[in-house]
Amino acid sequence: MKPIQPPAPAEDDEQLRAALARIDQLERRIAKLERRVAATSPPGWECSVCRRGWVTARGDVLTCNRCSYRRSL
Ligand SMILES: [Zn+2]
Repeated sequence: MKPIQPPAPAEDDEQLRAALARIDQLERRIAKLERRVAATSPPGWECSVCRRGWVTARGDVLTCNRCSYRRSL
């Protein structure tokens, strides 16, 4: 026995296409925003000492922008 797949009614097809187009648009917008975030956030990581600050490397020194964490590489 073959599974029977009735063709989708034209109206559903139209709605599906519109929904997919919307998703496509949103995905493009998200990709754009992600690129912007990647471009503006400094490279670094969450501080393991205060867990609220951001540790960045400047030259050979790692510093947290919230606590006094500081470490030479
Ligand atoms: Zn910190």
